[in-house]
Amino acid sequence: MPAKTADRRGLLIILSSPSGAGKSTLAKRLREWDSSIRFSVSATTREPRPGEVDGKDYHFLTEEAFKSSVEEGEMLEHARVFGNYYGSPRAAVQDAIDAGQDVLFDIDWQGAQQISNSPLNQHTLSIFLLPPSITELHRRLQDRGQDGADVIADRMRKSWDEISHWDAYDFVLVNDNLDDTEQKLRAILTAARLRRTQQPSITSHVRQLQTEFEATQ
Ligand code: ADP
Ligand code: 5GP
Repeated sequence: MPAKTADRRGLLIILSSPSGAGKSTLAKRLREWDSSIRFSVSATTREPRPGEVDGKDYHFLTEEAFKSSVEEGEMLEHARVFGNYYGSPRAAVQDAIDAGQDVLFDIDWQGAQQISNSPLNQHTLSIFLLPPSITELHRRLQDRGQDGADVIADRMRKSWDEISHWDAYDFVLVNDNLDDTEQKLRAILTAARLRRTQQPSITSHVRQLQTEFEATQ
């Protein structure tokens, strides 16, 4: 009998890119493809944008509450990005991966590095998205229509800082055509789920094969 899906370990899927390259769009598409994928809802000290819902888009915390949460060891990783604090609450992630569910993180290179240096590294899949060009990145930030000119200029200035960490990731995709990138992400995820370390129940299957094999000798 092949290993059952429920017997697998959950993956930590990290998506990083400069702001505007397509992380949220692709994360949403992956979730539509497979609704069992959980999003890691980050905590942040930044102000909510119009339409953002506390507990769904982010856990919006005061700086004091954020820092105390870090001191209590409640964050799997945390970093200062664009002048605000961001972090991934540990408990929700651990519960999900123990239950065999994949968790998707939209976090920056500092967070990716911290998770990669943690014991969870063996269950981590990290993917970096590059824009087709810097001009297109700018256009996407403008077309998204969420940020003012100052915020966009700041994100563009910081884009190289994020891009310069591209080579620390397992996979790198140029997000040119959205459908193509989505197909590639699906393929990467499908393959990563088959890693030996993600399939704890495969050991008992191999034992069964051994028993059966020995019985035929
Ligand atoms: P991020 O989460 O990385 O900041 P978003 O997912 O919000 O980026 O994408 C920024 C903008 O670019 C959005 O308006 C989105 O619809 C658009 N976008 C994302 N991927 C593509 C793509 N491959 N081609 C064209 N537009 C894209
Ligand atoms: P935004 O303010 O546009 O939602 O996010 C700004 C940046 O912060 C993005 O690059 C995003 O990936 C990053 N980010 C969001 N949540 C976290 C987090 O929990 N940890 C880290 N390290 N970065 C985060």
